[in-house]
Amino acid sequence: MQTQRLRIAIQKKGRLSKECQELLKRCGVKFNMMGERLVVHCENMPIDLLLVRDDDIPGLIMDGVVDLGVIGENELEEVSLERLARNEPADYVKLRRLDFGGCRLSIAIDKDAEYKGPQDLKGKRIATTYPQLVKRYMDKQGVPFSACMLNGSVEVAPRAGLADAICDLVSTGATLEANGLKEVEVILRSKAVLIQRQGEFSADKLALIERLLTRMQGVIQAKE
Ligand code: ATP
Ligand code: ZN
Repeated sequence: MQTQRLRIAIQKKGRLSKECQELLKRCGVKFNMMGERLVVHCENMPIDLLLVRDDDIPGLIMDGVVDLGVIGENELEEVSLERLARNEPADYVKLRRLDFGGCRLSIAIDKDAEYKGPQDLKGKRIATTYPQLVKRYMDKQGVPFSACMLNGSVEVAPRAGLADAICDLVSTGATLEANGLKEVEVILRSKAVLIQRQGEFSADKLALIERLLTRMQGVIQAKE
C-alpha cells in the first residue's frame, strides 16, 4: 500500500532517536513529537514519521512498507543476513552514512585471559545479540564456536557462567571494563545510515527525497 506522503521510519526511543529528530528538524522538516503516537505527520512537508523499535526498521524497508529509514549499520547488516538465510527479500539502497550512532561490534573476553588471536576463541561459547554477524566473522576466520543468543545483559554472560566470551556494541569500553572484560577483536565499525526501499517512486516523492538529501548534505557539512 503506497501513500502519497513520504514515510520515514525512525527509532522511537533510544540512542539514535534524538540525533535523528534533530537532523530532520535541521533539514527543515517540522513536526511535533507528542505522546505515544506511532505516526507523526509533518506540518510543512508531505512526510509521515513512523516511530518504531530500531530492530523493525530494516524489515520495514526490505518489505517496502516505508520509503526511508534511519538505522545503525550493525542492525541493518544483521537483519540482512538473517533474511537472506530465510530466503526473504533483503534489498535496500544506502543513501547516506550519517554523522551519529558511531560504535563498534567487538568480541570481548575475561580481562585476565590470554589472547593471541581468533584461534583462541576455538570451541568457545560467545554470547551476542548479533549471531549472524558473529557467524560471518568466525566462519571467515575458520574458527568453530557456539553461540548464545541474548537480547540484553550480554556483558554479564561470562560472569554468570552462560558464555566464555561476548560480542557486543562498544563505544567507550567502560561497560566492558566494569564487567571485567577486555576487547580483543573489532568485527564491525558502525554508524547510523539513511536507507531507502527498492522499487518505484512517484516523481513527487523522488523530488522530495532529493531535496532532503541536499539539505542533509548541507547540515552535516556545516557541522564538520
Ligand atoms: P530499541 O528499543 O529501539 O530496540 P535498542 O535498545 O535496541 O532500542 P539502542 O541501545 O537505542 O537500541 O541503540 C540503537 C543503536 O545505536 C545501536 O544499534 C547502534 O547502532 C547505536 N549505538 C551507538 N553507540 C552505541 C553503544 N554504545 N551501545 C549500543 N548501541 C550504540
Ligand atoms: Zn533494538
